[in-house]
Formats: sequence, C-alpha cells, structure tokens
Amino acid sequence: MTPETELREQICRIAKSLFDRGLTSGASGNISARLPDGGLLVTPTGVSLGMLDPGRLTRLDAGGRYVDGDKPTKELPLHAAFYETRQAKAGAVVHLHSTHSVALSMLPETDPDNVLPPLTPYSIMRLGKVKLLPFFRPGDAAMGEAIRGLAGKRSAVLLANHGPVVAAKDLEAAAFAMEELEETARLALLTRGMKPNMLTEAQIRQVVEHFNVEWD
Ligand code: ZN
Repeated sequence: MTPETELREQICRIAKSLFDRGLTSGASGNISARLPDGGLLVTPTGVSLGMLDPGRLTRLDAGGRYVDGDKPTKELPLHAAFYETRQAKAGAVVHLHSTHSVALSMLPETDPDNVLPPLTPYSIMRLGKVKLLPFFRPGDAAMGEAIRGLAGKRSAVLLANHGPVVAAKDLEAAAFAMEELEETARLALLTRGMKPNMLTEAQIRQVVEHFNVEWD
C-alpha cells in the first residue's frame, strides 16, 4: 500500500470512529492531513464523516491548488491557516461540532484565552491553552484570518457557537487531542457550579515543563 492510500484509509477510519461516538453529527466536521509530497488530503463538503469514501477525498498540491477528488469542505480556510502558521508542527487538522465543546464556547464564565479549566493534566499535555475565537459565518474566510492572527502559537482553537479546530503533528495525535478537548469540556460542564478541585498553578507548571507544552 502506498503512503497516500494508507493515509486515505486512515482518514476515513478515524473520521468514522469520531462520528460513531457522537463527536460530530450530520455532515458536520472535517479533516485534513499532509501527504509526503507536501500536498493535502481533505474531506469533501456535504458528506458525513461516518460515510467517507477513501477514493473521493479532495487532493490539493503543496501550493494548495485542487488536484482531484470531490469538492473540498467549505471550512478549508481553517485548515490552511493552521498549516501555514504552524508549518512542520501541523501534519493534520481536525474540526468537529462536538456538543460539550460548543456548549463551553457559549458560557459567560469561559476564559477566552484558555477555555478549558485545569481539571486534568491530559488536556494541558495534548492541547496547551485553547483560544476562544469569535463567531463567524460558516465558510467565512475571516475564520482563517483569526487563526493566522495567533501566529502559530496555538495548536487548538474553539470557534464560538460552532466548534473546536485542532492541529497536531499527525492525524492520530490530532484526533486524540480533539477527544481530550471534548472530554475536558464535558468534565467542565459536569462539575459546573460544584467548585471542583482544579490543578494548582504549581501542578500546571509541572505538567507544562515536564511535557514541554507550548503554554503562552
Ligand atoms: Zn464547522
């Protein structure tokens, strides 16, 4: 199997797994991953992540130009902005409309600079600080501009009233980080108003230093 065929199958397998576990519904959510030649494979517009066809993924060349496959997701600007600003640190990007993360994006007490409360070390290790971005009309190129505005300093953002976008070195890491984001958002909602014991500043610092987390 060529690396491209393998990546096509991995995208469809991971997309279906995310969909089957209710992490995004209908035809929402999209995934992209870097090919060895610098090009991208992207999930097409209007298709459920649970029913992707590996042969119909959109392929773009290293310059971002369309090569073949179905029409790409209209949320491609989100993906392109991460690849552009994070360079080699971005090998894949996952965007979902996962319920608990979206709910957290709407709450007045959510810190826009660091949306996840420090409940467990795992979200810190996998995501660093997750930035809340404002609401944009779906498909608005301004979403990409907002990510470019972060100058590659964040690997994950949460679009208000919409959903999270996560970039990582490869597709598996991006999917794991996305799952961690959603689970932490769920824990935040489960413990909301209960004054849970959160990690202290010293404990957060320990995790950040030991795991070399980007934490600016
Ligand atoms: Zn979306």
